[in-house]
Amino acid sequence: MQTRQQGTHSGRPAAAILHVDMDAFFAAVELLERPELVNQPVAIGHNSPRSVISTANYPARRFGVHSALPVAIALQRCPRLHLIPPHMEKYAAVSKQVFALFEEFTPIVEPLSVDEAFLDVTGSQRLFGDPVTIARQLRQRIREETGLAASVGIASNKFLAKIASGFAKPDGVYIIPLGSEREFLADLPVKKLWGVGPKTLKLLESRAIKTAGDLALTPLDTLTRLLGEKHAKHLHQLSLGIDERAVETERERKSVGHERTFEVDIVDRQQVTKTLLRLSAKTGERLRAKGLRGKTVAIKVRWAGFETVSRSHSLARATDSTQQIYAVASELFRACDRGEPIRLLGVRVEQLTDGSGEETQPQLWSDVFAGVDGGSGIGAGGAGAAGAAGTGSTTDAEQWERLEKTLDEVNARFGGSGITNAGAL
Ligand SMILES: [Mg+2]
Repeated sequence: MQTRQQGTHSGRPAAAILHVDMDAFFAAVELLERPELVNQPVAIGHNSPRSVISTANYPARRFGVHSALPVAIALQRCPRLHLIPPHMEKYAAVSKQVFALFEEFTPIVEPLSVDEAFLDVTGSQRLFGDPVTIARQLRQRIREETGLAASVGIASNKFLAKIASGFAKPDGVYIIPLGSEREFLADLPVKKLWGVGPKTLKLLESRAIKTAGDLALTPLDTLTRLLGEKHAKHLHQLSLGIDERAVETERERKSVGHERTFEVDIVDRQQVTKTLLRLSAKTGERLRAKGLRGKTVAIKVRWAGFETVSRSHSLARATDSTQQIYAVASELFRACDRGEPIRLLGVRVEQLTDGSGEETQPQLWSDVFAGVDGGSGIGAGGAGAAGAAGTGSTTDAEQWERLEKTLDEVNARFGGSGITNAGAL
């Protein structure tokens, strides 16, 4: 097994993504207490007519017993199956342990289920070694702490890492080395690609497109006519082994934000400023459209070397204001700027509330009354509006909010984002 870190098709360094998946998780947890059954067929499920199997161990799978199979059929296929009822609290406790071990290797963990996650270890390599070494250490830590086996797929993106872990099972590591993606995908059935459901599969098969390799060789025009522009482009990218989606932490998933990946890494800091403003504007717009506010503003920066950093700052009061979001975002960027070229920028707002929180309501009401008294008008509060994050006076903030609400209404009426506040232009 070998790994290379440099030189993708585009000549850019690549990310190192692991997909970690516990083997036959529920069954494996139960077997810790029943070691005498390890080599016996074991499945987790309630022994009742309408139940289905939730997990089967490998000996049981040899009998054709697998998850989602009705228990009745499982028992027909394997009369000496040991059926164990599920104990979810037990699995949850072990899951917690496993996820804590992920965090020992990287803070960028995206949970997919209780026993499965993506880990972005691009930035962990200086500390822990190459991705294969990281996978080995992680599997060892998991075995020491829980007694369980995890399989790990390694690749330069999420899509490939997930496929790789399937090849790693059981109890193994599988890497798709950089540069061998297309070779690896050549014979992969198209139904393994994300976004290929029964309908798409039929359409593709009608054109004799059976493998990802076939798909990669099909002209994009042909695919577009068959599947529509967006879907065609997505699948074509996957068939070439390209997947730009970042590993998203739980925090990010519970947030509102926007990201931009640059075609060419950017160096110009003025372009960074403009992009942060635009991303802040989009984030603010979306928050206001949903009636949400958030207390924490965060940025994500992916350097040209593919290492990704996140920085966040919490405000005293939840906001949906573009100006406030931008002020914090640009401050956070200044504090973490290494002067290196940048591949991706993201702005997001976390710790969301629906805007009716106790903190904001009284101020909103006083603002409404201030407006009735004729005290409104942009800029009346002085020059504080462009000040540092979270330090603008309430009046300024409220005025910005009102301005932005008006802009949103105008944008909604005329469609698109034609109007933004002047700085974002
Ligand atoms: Mg699993």
